[in-house]
Amino acid sequence: MLNIILFGPPGAGKGTQSEKLIAKYKLLHLSTGDLLRSEIAANTPLGIEAKKFMDEGKLVPDEVVIGMIENKLEAHHDAAGFIFDGFPRTVAQAKALDELLAKHGHPITAMVAMEVPHVELVKRLVNRGLTSGRSDDTEEVINKRIDEYESKTRPVAKHYETQQKFSPINGIGEVEEVFDRIIEIINNAPIISL
Ligand code: ADP
Repeated sequence: MLNIILFGPPGAGKGTQSEKLIAKYKLLHLSTGDLLRSEIAANTPLGIEAKKFMDEGKLVPDEVVIGMIENKLEAHHDAAGFIFDGFPRTVAQAKALDELLAKHGHPITAMVAMEVPHVELVKRLVNRGLTSGRSDDTEEVINKRIDEYESKTRPVAKHYETQQKFSPINGIGEVEEVFDRIIEIINNAPIISL
């Protein structure tokens, strides 16, 4: 079983690379951002609550996203593995994920961290905002999202570094080039079982 965390700041290209990884390794894609946006689209109480945080560029409370991930893990016991995209985003989420995987599946195989400089991130996201229709792709909210990443999400890297599962890659380059860097790490990662 392959359980990969694709890690990186907003605009690093996690969504694009996730799609390619899913096709190659037949993994299930768990993107908390996508899950939250479907709750918003369906106008559920969870979605209405989450939207307030998202529109301000803030993280949604841990218990909300952890609950969503737990439901998905329980519903897909038979998956070949998961690709976690945009989760875990706090150390508390990382600890909860480790516990959930110990209960429901296999541990994290590797965390691949896509590194892209701040100026490039803002450029990409402002550009995406022209067509994405996402209410959080405006310059003010983008900067807030990157601040949240620096203060709350970056420490998650340390958590997996301690477990010797952390691999940084350069997120600048053609989509295919970046993809090759990611698969090299996945193909060389030791398979760990519980
Ligand atoms: P991006 O990585 O480009 O910011 P996402 O779609 O991953 O986009 O996330 C959009 C927003 O959804 C975040 O700014 C945050 O408000 C919320 N969100 C997504 N995942 C999480 C998470 N794991 N914990 C808390 N909030 C989250």
